[in-house]
Amino acid sequence: MGAWATRECASKGRRGGVAPTKGGRGVAAPAKGKVKGKWRGESAKGKGLQWESVLLCAVLQRTRSPRSRELGSSSILCRRHEIVGVVTEVGSRVEKFKVGDKVGVGCMVSSCRSCESCEQGFENDCAAWVLTYGSIDRDGTMTYGGFSDVLVADEHFVVRFPDHLPMDGAAPLLCAGITVYSPMKQFGLNEPGKHLGIVGLGGLGHIAVKFAKAFGMKATVITTSPSKEREAIDKFRADSFLVSRSLDQMEAAAGTMDGIIDTVAAIHPLGPLFSLMKNGGNLILMGMPDKPLKLPAFSAIRGRKKLAGSCIGGMRDTQEMLDFAGKHEITANVEVIPMEYVSTAMERLAKNDIKYRFVIDVANTLKAAE
Ligand SMILES: [Zn+2]
Repeated sequence: MGAWATRECASKGRRGGVAPTKGGRGVAAPAKGKVKGKWRGESAKGKGLQWESVLLCAVLQRTRSPRSRELGSSSILCRRHEIVGVVTEVGSRVEKFKVGDKVGVGCMVSSCRSCESCEQGFENDCAAWVLTYGSIDRDGTMTYGGFSDVLVADEHFVVRFPDHLPMDGAAPLLCAGITVYSPMKQFGLNEPGKHLGIVGLGGLGHIAVKFAKAFGMKATVITTSPSKEREAIDKFRADSFLVSRSLDQMEAAAGTMDGIIDTVAAIHPLGPLFSLMKNGGNLILMGMPDKPLKLPAFSAIRGRKKLAGSCIGGMRDTQEMLDFAGKHEITANVEVIPMEYVSTAMERLAKNDIKYRFVIDVANTLKAAE
């Protein structure tokens, strides 16, 4: 079902060089004003809704995944998801939302809805999922993400935004937030008193620390950068901090953690991380290095430890995560930028010069372009 209509970014597939789309070139789908009453979500099943993009978070994520190479974007991929806005129209069969609601869309906009994964609420694991950007939708059209002033989506893939959370800080929860929340929940790493290791203190890691503390857990940040200690402990309230290159520190913490979530997208040794876990612990990968990671068999054999993976989360968990974030007032630390700044932002990202997520203010960028 065609459930997505945004206008194409003028520089699709290129690194950087992103321009505002309102009134601009590269219109790939009906533009604002023309879609009213006949947008695809409505014509298909009436389950679609349309909203104005008040603020959009294009995740500028370091990645070395094969996907980024496909898109010809070297090692940086400008992801146009984590989109928030306010509903402006709803289809006749929309049940969950009404005009004026604050809503968001994360990484995916469709899935088959009938496979085992979908039925269990893990649309994120559906073989036929459709990503919010750079994916072929079920009607054969391309999805273009959120560099646009109007978006249309199926209500199943839209989540309600807690009213009191700021849109800019909370937008990254739609991807980064659910990416860490879902495995914490699925692997039982959300229980008070448990000890969670968090590898990496970037866009994902800093939110994981906040969730862990809200769950009443002990949180330990593990990183190669000693300079992040103060931030981890003072700003994000991590209980402890480990420099992974320090044998002394790693040995002192051996066997203390119930599980570890590993957000690092670069090649790194897994053996030392396994040694930090208690027997039966799970180390869950969510970063995607471009080469296989090595795991000495002994690390897993001794103590029934397991290596697992997790990729975002299902829609039910995404809503639950947002509600939890709303209750505990959890947001990401962000830097709000205009769209013209995206190229610079990506260069800064390549140099690791970001704290912790860039959020693009689409509505104001478009207003300024008028
Ligand atoms: Zn499915």
